[in-house]
Amino acid sequence: MTQDAFFKLTYGIYIIAASAESKSSAYLGNTAFQVTAEPPQIAISSHKENDTTALIQESGYFSLSVLKETASLSTIGLLGYRHGKEVDKLASLNHYYTKNNTPVVLEDSLAWFECRVKQTVDTGSHLLFIGEVIDNGTIGEDARAMDYRFYREELKAYASKNAPTYVNLNRLNDSIEVKAEQPVAKEKSEEAFDPRKFRCMMCEYVYDPAKGDPHGKIPPGTSFEDLPEDWICPICGVGKDMFDEY
Ligand code: FE
Repeated sequence: MTQDAFFKLTYGIYIIAASAESKSSAYLGNTAFQVTAEPPQIAISSHKENDTTALIQESGYFSLSVLKETASLSTIGLLGYRHGKEVDKLASLNHYYTKNNTPVVLEDSLAWFECRVKQTVDTGSHLLFIGEVIDNGTIGEDARAMDYRFYREELKAYASKNAPTYVNLNRLNDSIEVKAEQPVAKEKSEEAFDPRKFRCMMCEYVYDPAKGDPHGKIPPGTSFEDLPEDWICPICGVGKDMFDEY
């Protein structure tokens, strides 16, 4: 099988949110689609390890917000690459609660839907929730909806580990030439290197020159500036231009 064929499939990028009792969470998902018109139903595929999944199962409701193309990287990083156990994802995002206690994220969004779960299908790693749309709205901004092509090609980001469309970066990197074994890289590692750390704006991964990047076959002692131009964040897959000094 070839990954390129899977990359031809198109998707949007959505914020999925849910709450149960006093807990709320949200994540960035690309697997959402309208399955019927009458009644209007939307299906989403949610990883079982995702904390929002448990909240959807418990409450029987979820919301889906359509992300805009100009969404900030901090919104994408927070929703796409952080875990609800580490951080209260909704705390810093503009959102409100419906009368069913479903959180609806308005931040960086163009439209939203609140859905009541009608069917749940266990697909192995994920649960497919089919929900009837019980309310919706637009946020009234004239912007384009972000799609997966833009996400991959313009933002140069990859789906996170729990996405149905996850791409294993280790496997991709294995097919790339092993740059760490080039003589130049070896010489650099023995010289004094620039110890400044750089942080990924997308997922907050910190590149530490003292450690290098074992996933990308970058040896310890490689300054950030000396990383190859096609080096990518081992967590989310964005390029060097998405890093700021830490
Ligand atoms: Fe990253």
